[in-house]
Amino acid sequence: MSVVHEPLVAEPAESIARVPEAAIQDAWVRGLFDPTRLVTAEGEKVNVVTRGRLNRDSGPDVIGARIEVGGVLWAGDVEIHLASSAWETHGHHLDPAYDRVILHVVLSPDKRTGTLRRPDGSALPELVLLPHLDRSLRSLLRSFYLEPRSAPNCSHRWDEIDVDSWGREWIRFLGTERLRSRAKGLARDYTRRPDLDRLLIRRMFRALGYTANADTFEALADRLDLAALRRLDYDDVHATLLATSGLERPDLFDLEVEPSPMRAEAWKRGGRPANAPRRRLAQAAAWLSPAGVLRTDGIATLAESLSHSIEDALTALRPDLEDGNGHRLGATRATRVLTDAVLPVLMVDAELRDDHDLEDAVLRAYAALPAGDDHVMRRFGDAGLKPRTAVEAQGAHHLARSYCDEGRCARCAIGRTLYPALAGA
Ligand code: SF4
Repeated sequence: MSVVHEPLVAEPAESIARVPEAAIQDAWVRGLFDPTRLVTAEGEKVNVVTRGRLNRDSGPDVIGARIEVGGVLWAGDVEIHLASSAWETHGHHLDPAYDRVILHVVLSPDKRTGTLRRPDGSALPELVLLPHLDRSLRSLLRSFYLEPRSAPNCSHRWDEIDVDSWGREWIRFLGTERLRSRAKGLARDYTRRPDLDRLLIRRMFRALGYTANADTFEALADRLDLAALRRLDYDDVHATLLATSGLERPDLFDLEVEPSPMRAEAWKRGGRPANAPRRRLAQAAAWLSPAGVLRTDGIATLAESLSHSIEDALTALRPDLEDGNGHRLGATRATRVLTDAVLPVLMVDAELRDDHDLEDAVLRAYAALPAGDDHVMRRFGDAGLKPRTAVEAQGAHHLARSYCDEGRCARCAIGRTLYPALAGA
């Protein structure tokens, strides 16, 4: 039975449409609602045990929530939008990072309310928050804009400055700073284990594993005998990965796995088919097969591709599978593998060898690749400074985490302009 939503006559539709999503997220994590009579769109009682905390990385808006829906206690994430249809327009219904969403909170219902599904096909409970807010929208917005909260909490004044030009320049600068500092972190890993080839493969496998299986994929990469694998054809590489992962019995392939296969339970399943571990292992096998980008010297091969073009590097990451039946890596995932794994390792390589051409190629790629979509991107977008490229996305994260959240406004280019009195602080 669906709940009939009463017309929300107290708040005109145009006021609702003007509410930034960040304000609804703020209202949720701060608990600015009456928790006693919450029900889902399907009429099930909702009891919020823990509201969770804002997620600063990619994925759902709020993580670490515990909520009882219809008497069943769930632990997981909460996604928050202005209205229900945004779940699908943002593509969350296809993205396995949203499999753990236990409640979709919307300010106001629309024609999709009560019909949504998670990426794994299960029904997604929804809560319409507006009737339960403990204050009017006007005072909600007032507290959102004027009370201290998380980044960027000066955004209500961004229309006083030309934030889209030099504010963008500032986040680009911070983005480059963050990339260099991440490369330094990887360089420290390299110092502990000076094997750039293995580091690249670990990072690429990790990026292939998405959030759910990132650690497991990295553990698999650590177990592989790369020299032996690189002598095998595609089918045998694939069989070795399946047997080592624990997802297939080694004796099926007449293989012995040393020291021992991983546990099959280490792999999380149930997400989107494109992200299923078996399909990802077939794609990893293609990287290590005779025509694959990791067959000999992955660093040199990818640096060479990147020196031609970003498209060449992405194509190298998306080989056809040699059995002709499998699914090659998707373009979006290949972009993530490039930004999260390949470029940081190439940056380390460039710094170790003092190769300025390679460093420039890496920075050019970050400036050209598109920004992803996550909570921080949306917050900056709502504020009028939507990151467009991967380097701007990195910069927005760096600004939010290392400046706004730390109260370092006096060190921030935006803060020094908005609050000149901070200049000598
Ligand atoms: S650090 Fe900069 S962007 Fe963040 S709140 Fe302070 S002045 Fe605004």
